[in-house]
Amino acid sequence: MSKFKNAYLQGVYDAVCKRNAGEPEFLQAVMEVLESFEPVVAKYPEYETNGIIDRIVEPERFVQFRVSWVDDSGKVRVNRGFRVQFNSAIGPYKGGLRLHPTVCASVIKFLGFEQCFKNSLTGLPMGGGKGGSDFDPKGKSDGEVMRFCQSFMTELSKHIGADTDVPAGDIGVGGREIGYMFGQYKRLRNEFTGVLTGKGLSYGGSLVRTEATGYGLLYFTQEMLKSMKQDSMSGKTVVISGSGNVAIYATQKAQQLGAKVVALSDSNGYIYDKNGIQLEVVRQIKEVERGRISEYAKRVPGSEYQEGCRGIWSVKCDIALPCATQNELDGKAAQVLVDNGVIAVAEGANMPSTPEAIEIFQKHGVLFGPAKAANAGGVATSGLEMCQNSMRYSWTFEEVDAKLKHIMENIFHNSYNASKEFGAEGNLVMGANIAGFLKISDAMKWQGIAY
Ligand code: NDP
Repeated sequence: MSKFKNAYLQGVYDAVCKRNAGEPEFLQAVMEVLESFEPVVAKYPEYETNGIIDRIVEPERFVQFRVSWVDDSGKVRVNRGFRVQFNSAIGPYKGGLRLHPTVCASVIKFLGFEQCFKNSLTGLPMGGGKGGSDFDPKGKSDGEVMRFCQSFMTELSKHIGADTDVPAGDIGVGGREIGYMFGQYKRLRNEFTGVLTGKGLSYGGSLVRTEATGYGLLYFTQEMLKSMKQDSMSGKTVVISGSGNVAIYATQKAQQLGAKVVALSDSNGYIYDKNGIQLEVVRQIKEVERGRISEYAKRVPGSEYQEGCRGIWSVKCDIALPCATQNELDGKAAQVLVDNGVIAVAEGANMPSTPEAIEIFQKHGVLFGPAKAANAGGVATSGLEMCQNSMRYSWTFEEVDAKLKHIMENIFHNSYNASKEFGAEGNLVMGANIAGFLKISDAMKWQGIAY
């Protein structure tokens, strides 16, 4: 069945489906992006003559490798490592590393594809990439995580470099893992370079990088509320899924902006605290003890824990910020949010809303900030970390934070303006995809094709 009005887009999508059969997350991401290009391709036929869209959906390089390591009992374990180098038209490949049992080629390719447009939207010179492994850090000792990271980097180091490809963190990869990987890269190459971002402050990290995705999400949401509804975060009730890096700093910034965050989750269940989440308790449980969110209800009187993470969307709120993982918010959950009076949804995680959920939000006039735009603060600050590494210099917290805020506000306005220019004013899914795409496609056109 034909999904696109434009025959060129339909042909590209059919070829992608054939070539990547059995990769549902990747196909979902491609579909969402290509749908946005209908008015662009109609207006500029040269995208077809230059084969831009055919090229943009095919990664420049995809590496898969064995990662063997030894656990604490002396047993040899084997995981699968990946790196996709999707598009380098506007800068070195850039994108995080995910360590989670669900990691596979489809997940890495969907993340890498989305990353290209997100990085372009930041206005910084970064191409798109992504990587990771099906290794599960949960329940592993520090020593096991270190040996895994070292083995992973032993292979990955052959494919990356400060001017080639600069990975960062994502699910399961925080400061500890980046440190072990950076140490191994340096050992292997005898080079102290900005080959990874999200580094510790004592060895080249940037202030605000830890907070960046969560803070950026709130800067974006605040600007979206201000520009599209003459409203603000102040006094709003907020539900945030996840309780990892993005969720924690989204909670912190939402609270600083005067909102009340009442729920957080992990993959087992969610907590509800009608008095407002006490972030220090969450940080102690998640960042220090690496424990489960259920602990919160045992420590904070008046709060509740419910098994099952998807139930979080039944908590009444003005603003919902999905910050856990892909496809965590489906059509049914979106309808419940709408029935409960949600006014804005902005994605901290990558592709957390299913296409059905997005359709429901848009149909009911809920402001919707797509991941590519709303969560770009992490990679933007990684770009600022690369910049500081190149200069061998560090900016203050206030300097980086101000640049992040400025970038997020620009991303909102560029996405909004593109949605208006291409006839879908206020549709930020379309606007973000188009605004990100135009810069990449221009660079690809100028750089020619190697015959
Ligand atoms: P973390 O590993 O720090 O936290 C992930 C959180 O999501 C945890 O609370 C985890 O719970 C929960 N989670 C993971 N898988 C599932 C699942 N299947 N169902 C429900 N909850 C789940 O990761 P981040 O906070 O860094 O990343 C969260 C999201 O934000 C991801 O989509 C990531 O790609 C995206 N993102 C992250 C950026 C960054 O700078 N870190 C930048 C841009 C996007 P549990 O502990 O139970 O696994």
